[in-house]
Amino acid sequence: MPNTPTHDFLTVATSLVMTPAIFSILRTAEVVQSSAVIVTTVIVVAHNVSGMLFSPDLDLDSRIHKRWGILLFIWKPYKWCIPHRHFWSHGLVIPPILRLGYFFGMIIMLIFASEVIARTFGFPLPDYHQSVAKSIIDWFVGHPVITLSTALGFITGGAVHSIADWLVTGGKHLIHMLFVPPRQPARVARKSYPGSMMWLFNPFSHVRPDHF
Ligand SMILES: [Zn+2]
Repeated sequence: MPNTPTHDFLTVATSLVMTPAIFSILRTAEVVQSSAVIVTTVIVVAHNVSGMLFSPDLDLDSRIHKRWGILLFIWKPYKWCIPHRHFWSHGLVIPPILRLGYFFGMIIMLIFASEVIARTFGFPLPDYHQSVAKSIIDWFVGHPVITLSTALGFITGGAVHSIADWLVTGGKHLIHMLFVPPRQPARVARKSYPGSMMWLFNPFSHVRPDHF
């Protein structure tokens, strides 16, 4: 799989390609210029945040964790629960949204835990976790275009990472199949190029890309 700097480069490079493409698509669809700028900006920012902060590689010890600083602990349960390089971290569409939902849930739980600790020490606090959760959900429900743009950017940011991992894995298999005589045909067939992509789409797949 590509290393973190390579993934970062791919994330930024794809966002630079996406920016004029999304803007021109929106303008072609006769979206007013100011709205097109806002939607393009939200998608591109979400794409970069997804690729560099909410990376699929949060499922293992990686440079991504260090980027979270003191909030690193938020991702520990995620790393413990999500199988390494499986659909639930490296799949398309669902896993990037899952990470966003997980982050939201952890923030609300942290606020709740702070309330419980404060009450234990005799400082009764209102239920901030409920009001914060409701405010955030209400805001996103009230701004569906921004919500969809954020979701789309998160999906594309995760997809660039997962597809790069898949291409490297599949590329190695392809070179192996083309240039290395198959001494163990059954094993090569099982790890063939098309089979290696099942983890991108199938949450129940036991096929995972190789680790390099
Ligand atoms: Zn990866």
